[in-house]
Amino acid sequence: MYEETLKPLRKAVGVLDLESDIVAALSSPERVLITSIPVKMDNGRIRVFEGYRVQHSTARGPAKGGIRYHPAVCLNETKSLAFWMSIKNAVVSIPYGGGKGGITCNPKELSQGELERLTRGYAAAIAQFIGPDQDIPAPDVGTNAQIMGWFADEYFKITGKYIAGVITAKPLSIGGSRGRGTATGRGLFFATLEAAKVFDIPLKGARVSIQGFGKVAQPIGQYLHDLGCKIVAVSDSVGGAYNPKGMHPRKLADFKAQTRSVKDFPGSREISTSEPITVDCDILIPSALENQVTEKNANDVKAQLIVEGANGPITPEADETLYEKGVAVIPDVLANAGGVTVSYFEWVQNRMGYYWSDEEVDEKLKRVMTAAFKDVCQTAKQTQMNTSFATRVHQIDMRTAAYVAAVRKIVDAMRALGRI
Ligand code: NAD
Repeated sequence: MYEETLKPLRKAVGVLDLESDIVAALSSPERVLITSIPVKMDNGRIRVFEGYRVQHSTARGPAKGGIRYHPAVCLNETKSLAFWMSIKNAVVSIPYGGGKGGITCNPKELSQGELERLTRGYAAAIAQFIGPDQDIPAPDVGTNAQIMGWFADEYFKITGKYIAGVITAKPLSIGGSRGRGTATGRGLFFATLEAAKVFDIPLKGARVSIQGFGKVAQPIGQYLHDLGCKIVAVSDSVGGAYNPKGMHPRKLADFKAQTRSVKDFPGSREISTSEPITVDCDILIPSALENQVTEKNANDVKAQLIVEGANGPITPEADETLYEKGVAVIPDVLANAGGVTVSYFEWVQNRMGYYWSDEEVDEKLKRVMTAAFKDVCQTAKQTQMNTSFATRVHQIDMRTAAYVAAVRKIVDAMRALGRI
């Protein structure tokens, strides 16, 4: 997976005509920590979990990126996610490098007590590796504000200091930021508004399909519904629901909260977890996990616009197919950057000890997302493909443009530091 992850980087380095050594310098993470976490389970037995923290780059600032709890977490996946964070933070011009962490576990099978002990064990294991000026974790798949709270408490106990900026997306009562819970969805919404203008896609009445219905997907579903879009398909890890007349996102969320899935949502037809990718729709928002749109199903995508809520939901081969089909793709490193942007706002507020209102956060987020979107569009328009890509069109796709914009900034920082 990690080699696949680096493909857009190689392309961007080619477009920028940088020395190929730059690829080597940008592809190796700076630091990797692998740790074993023994946890006393409710039945009295000890179970040992494997955890990771990867700092891909600290050239533009401290490493920054979430913590994932999922059975598929492994070193390669964590390296890919950390690399994407370096690119993403550069795309939206926030002063961070990239990092990511995770634990191989199924949080749905753990009690609250087990989850807390696991989180505290992980925090203790990586405490020397992180810090507000070094590496700042946040939530990702399978983790939430409560887990951030336990993590913060363990870190405070170890250091003897209340260092709120060590982790973001905390509960409001311990220094969280207003708007963080919905920030990734809100950022996706601003990106979708810009994309609709650029690619001339009417949003009122647009049919939207969403794969994954978690922290990222539920808010974006609601914002698009409020704008007059129809949510025609959704899925989660258990199953999916389809209704061409549209489904109400809040009712879907309530139903999922009660039954643990959107499957069997009243009035819907059952679909599989992956069918949202290929159903008839105008806008597709993959918001589950990586590698969901592949060479196997890319040709069957009907959407005109894909806004990547998840990290890495489209494989490089599928990306090529979609580009040739004329499907507009707003890449993860731009589209879903709203979460880390409000995490950055939270870290700034923690350092100031002064907190912003919902309106202030929203207005600042809109400004960052809109500026980044315009910057990437400008790069896509201005950047000519060099000879190795000359067979394609004159302008580059949005993913390559985002990588070009990001790699320039990271390489500038690495040169300024004398690291390359
Ligand atoms: P989450 O755990 O809250 O939600 C994930 C959802 O995807 C769940 O509903 C789960 O049931 C569903 N899912 C899992 N496997 C699936 C499958 N095979 N098919 C269909 N649905 C499936 O996680 P999240 O925080 O919403 O993250 C989702 C994606 O967004 C991840 O790729 C994550 O890295 C990315 N992301 C998250 C944030 C954030 O702030 N949380 C920010 C940027 C990017």
